[in-house]
Amino acid sequence: MKLPVDVSRIYEGERIREDEAFVCLGEPGVELLRVSESLREGVVVSGRELEEMKQGEHLPFGLRVLVKGSLSRDAEGVLERRLHEFINYIQGVSHEGSRDNVRMRISREAVEKGLKLEHVGMVVAELLRKEYPAISQVSVEIITDEAAVRELEEQALEVYRQRDERAAELRDEDVDVFYACEICENHAPKHECIISPSRPSGCGSISWLEAKAAVEMGEQAIKPVRKGRVIDEAKGEFEGVNEHSRAKGRERVFLHSVFEHPHPQCSCAQAVVFYIPEVDGFGIVESTFKGKTPFGIDFATLIKQIGDGRQHTGFTGVSIAYLRSPSFLKGDGGWSRVVWITSGLREMLRGTIPEEHLEGILTEREAATVEELQRLMEGRKEEPESRHAQMVQVPGRWRLRVNFQNTEFRVKEIVIE
Ligand code: SF4
Ligand SMILES: [Zn+2]
Repeated sequence: MKLPVDVSRIYEGERIREDEAFVCLGEPGVELLRVSESLREGVVVSGRELEEMKQGEHLPFGLRVLVKGSLSRDAEGVLERRLHEFINYIQGVSHEGSRDNVRMRISREAVEKGLKLEHVGMVVAELLRKEYPAISQVSVEIITDEAAVRELEEQALEVYRQRDERAAELRDEDVDVFYACEICENHAPKHECIISPSRPSGCGSISWLEAKAAVEMGEQAIKPVRKGRVIDEAKGEFEGVNEHSRAKGRERVFLHSVFEHPHPQCSCAQAVVFYIPEVDGFGIVESTFKGKTPFGIDFATLIKQIGDGRQHTGFTGVSIAYLRSPSFLKGDGGWSRVVWITSGLREMLRGTIPEEHLEGILTEREAATVEELQRLMEGRKEEPESRHAQMVQVPGRWRLRVNFQNTEFRVKEIVIE
C-alpha cells in the first residue's frame, strides 16, 4: 500500500491544533463496526473527498466498517475501539472520542502531500486484517455527507443500545475474572481500564462481554485479571485487581468509589465524575457538553488535568453505561450523593436516576458555579438529610435520629423520652 504520508505508532500522540488543520471532521461524528457475513471488500467515500473541501471547514464524519471472519459479535466493541488507535497512526491525522462522539482533524501538510480520506480507509482495513488474522475481509465506508452520517448515527445508536443492554445483565458477583485494557497506554502512560460487568470501560466501547470476546480472539492489549477475594463490596475493591494493578504502580483500585484509590482515567472517558467538597456531593459532566462545570472549567480542560492515566482522588472518568449501572459509585452513596449534572445528561438518564433523587439534582441552568450550588442547596439542607434519616430505638429511653449512607451512619439527634 503506497501512501503520501507515514503510518506508524510514533504518530499516535500527534495532536493537530485547529489552526494547523485543513479540516475538522465530526460535527456530528460517528463510527460503527459490525461483523457481517456479506460485504463488498474495499474502501468507498460517500460525500466530499478532502480535495473537494475548503480549508477551515467543519464537516460531518461517519465511519462504517464491516468485517467478515470467524468472529463473535461481542468482538465488535473492541475492534471498533481500535479504529481510534489505527487512525491516529497516520501522520497528519488525529482522532478523538468514540461511538457517536468522534472528532477527526487532518493537517494542511498532509493534504498538501496528497492525503485522501480513501487512504484513511485503506489504513483501517489493512491494520484490521494485519492485527486480527481471524478477519478475512473488510469493507470501509467513510461518509462526509450530512444526511448519510445522520442515517449511520441512527443505526449506530440502536446498536450501542443493544450492546449496552446485553452487557448490563451481568454483575461483578457473577464472574471470577475481570479484564484490563491497555489500548490507551500510548497517550496515557501506565493507564489501563479495569473492565468488570458492573463497570464498563471509560470510553464506553468495551463491556466485560466484549473484553472477554476480544481475549478469546487473541487481543493482546486486553488481559484477564483474576478477581480474587472481595475486600470491600461497596467500594468495589478486589484482591486480584489490587495485585494486578501493583505492576502499574497502583497499590489499590476502587471500582465504585472516587475517593482515595479511584479508577484511573485517560482522555477517552465519556464523562467525568468530580467531587465538590463545598457541598459534599458529586458533579458529572459528559465529553459532548460545551459549557462549564461549577468549577469554571469545561470538560476539555478538566480531562486534560486528570486524563493522564493516574489516580486523582475525587475524580473518575466513566462511561455512560457505567452511569446506568446499579453499582454506580455505590461505595460513595451512588445517585444520592450526586448534586449537579448537565441538563443533557439529566435528560439522557431519565429512567436511570432514581425518582427520589432526580428532582434534587441541579444542572448548569440552575447552578453555574459552586457558590450558586451552595446557595441553592443551603435553602433545602434539611430536606435530603431527613430523606435518609431514620429513628433508631436503643435500649432504655433513648432514640437516635441516624443518617445512613450504605453501611456508614451519622447520629444527627439523640431523643430522651
Ligand atoms: S479508554 Fe480504557 S477501555 Fe477504552 S480503549 Fe482506552 S484503555 Fe481501553
Ligand atoms: Zn484513552
